[in-house]
Amino acid sequence: MSSTRNKLNKKSKLPFNVNRKSILGILSLAYQEFIDSFLTKTKFKKPKEIEVLELVRKNAIKNSPESILKIIDNYAYKKTFLMNIGDQKGEILEEAIRDSQASNILELGVYLGYSTIRILNNLNDVSKLTSIEANEEFARIAKEHIKICGLSKNHLLKVGKSSEIIPKLKEQYDFVFIDHWKDIYLKDLKLLEEFGLLKKGAWVFADNVVLFNLEDYLDYVRTSPNYESKFIPTLREYSKSHPDGVEISRYRL
Ligand code: MG
Repeated sequence: MSSTRNKLNKKSKLPFNVNRKSILGILSLAYQEFIDSFLTKTKFKKPKEIEVLELVRKNAIKNSPESILKIIDNYAYKKTFLMNIGDQKGEILEEAIRDSQASNILELGVYLGYSTIRILNNLNDVSKLTSIEANEEFARIAKEHIKICGLSKNHLLKVGKSSEIIPKLKEQYDFVFIDHWKDIYLKDLKLLEEFGLLKKGAWVFADNVVLFNLEDYLDYVRTSPNYESKFIPTLREYSKSHPDGVEISRYRL
């Protein structure tokens, strides 16, 4: 009996926790990922990220962020899952960027540049965004998407592990968008604090806190005296039924 309990109590080997609220959302996207990866490996189709880039090259209107976002959203709704913030949470992100009046923004996790485009599209001429992406291929695709949108001017894209890049950053940020590997949200937030990279009052916007049940991250920002934190319930990107949410925390108000 006790060994069964020990097994049950063992920490998940996944880089996130799964609970009753998140399991269906996770299973649904895992199923879509499995099918897509099978079709790609058996050469029935190109990798989905390349398919998206080709659609953007073919159909996007130049200098129109809206047209690129629409192509990406359509692909994710109609073909297969893409790990973008998506249209519903994307609107919340854009509203937060505008409300914060942030001038120096940091993004952790770029993927195809979807959220990057939403952030850049809300900046004025003197504001800027630095993005970190670990995957070289994703970074190359994102860069091309951003260029087609005409939004490259205020953007700097750094390719590599966030844990190696963050300690080398020299400026302070007043808005951080976190949407990379779920098991390093908290580690990277603490790194940003340690290296003095958060301005007083900085906004920290974390995606997928319900889908991936990010308990350690949420415990930290909700109990630390350094943050005032609020949760916004949403649906998972490109889903009409699976719950998700974003956590917006303000640093040392
Ligand atoms: Mg996300």
